[in-house]
Amino acid sequence: MTTFAQLGYWRVGGPMERFETVEAAQQLMQLVRGGEHPGGVFVLGNGSNLLVSDSGLAGTTIRLAGEFKAAEVLEARGDEVHLRVGAGLLNAVLLNRYLGKLAGLGPLVGVPGSMGGAVAMNAGTALGEIGDVLLRVEGCDQHGHPAVIERADLRVRYREGGLPAGFVATAAVLRLSRAGAEDEHARAQHHLTRRKATQPLDLPSCGSVFRNPPAAEGCPPMAAGQLIESVGLKGWRHGGAQISEKHANFIVNLGNASATDVMMCIWKAYASVRDERGIELTPEVHVVGHWGKNLWPLPRVSE
Ligand SMILES: Cc1cc2nc3c(=O)[nH]c(=O)nc-3n(C[C@H](O)[C@H](O)[C@H](O)COP(=O)(O)OP(=O)(O)OC[C@H]3O[C@@H](n4cnc5c(N)ncnc54)[C@H](O)[C@@H]3O)c2cc1C
Repeated sequence: MTTFAQLGYWRVGGPMERFETVEAAQQLMQLVRGGEHPGGVFVLGNGSNLLVSDSGLAGTTIRLAGEFKAAEVLEARGDEVHLRVGAGLLNAVLLNRYLGKLAGLGPLVGVPGSMGGAVAMNAGTALGEIGDVLLRVEGCDQHGHPAVIERADLRVRYREGGLPAGFVATAAVLRLSRAGAEDEHARAQHHLTRRKATQPLDLPSCGSVFRNPPAAEGCPPMAAGQLIESVGLKGWRHGGAQISEKHANFIVNLGNASATDVMMCIWKAYASVRDERGIELTPEVHVVGHWGKNLWPLPRVSE
């Protein structure tokens, strides 16, 4: 039985009751129509922003491959290029092909996910968000019917793609530009160098655990990592999981962490910042599976 620990970036999490690699639209629609998971099936992207409980996940988990890993130019007019990118394609592969040739992919630099995960999360960096260049998302709805959603009809926000519940994205159409591509490439290199210097990339993690909170009136904005550091939690450990000594918004697996260890670090950071700084952080990572009542969910304070 395949476990999330085998596939996810944190290297934690229990078994999937049923795991299918989906290679074609027809197969996807059939699976969603017959899905046992509430709202259809659970889609795993590249597992770089997911915390799955140690008990694993019931129902059907799918991963997109085959035709969902293609990228093609749909339209090119002047400098503007519309690129259709399969949801299963990894950002690293896409960037390898197009960064420096087409501008607009900067938001994905250093983000180790798939296009489906990028659209679902509205992934982004200091160079922008994927929502900035998104024209539309293709996929199937929770009933297994083909659907196309225009960018204007999605409620895209900071680290939220706004996809409807149960929607499986199969491709994104991006509006990119030939102009400015070399300049973006240079900025991307600079950005990557800075990340390597400031993030614990040598240990398993899912990147930033919490979203940066909105600035309170009259106060300078503080990043989630700065807040966690300010309550003295850098290096705090539970079992095999640790609030990183290098970047306090990263929780790293020191080698033998369980999903519960990671969750205990999340709770410790959340509760300490709430109690000592009066700010309720909102998790950026998606948490799924069965958890004890006292562990999850944290209040979704931004909604
Ligand atoms: C070292 C590191 C650095 C990171 N840095 C950043 C960063 O700078 N900026 C940033 O935004 N993120 C960052 N992340 C987090 C993560 O890489 C992104 O959120 C990424 O977009 C997640 O994509 P994924 O394919 O791995 O999705 P997963 O983690 O597999 O899934 C995340 C969510 O998306 C849903 N999903 C995935 N595919 C689809 C689909 N086809 N249709 C519908 N829903 C889908 C899943 O069901 C799940 O709810 C980082 C992670 C790591 C490990």
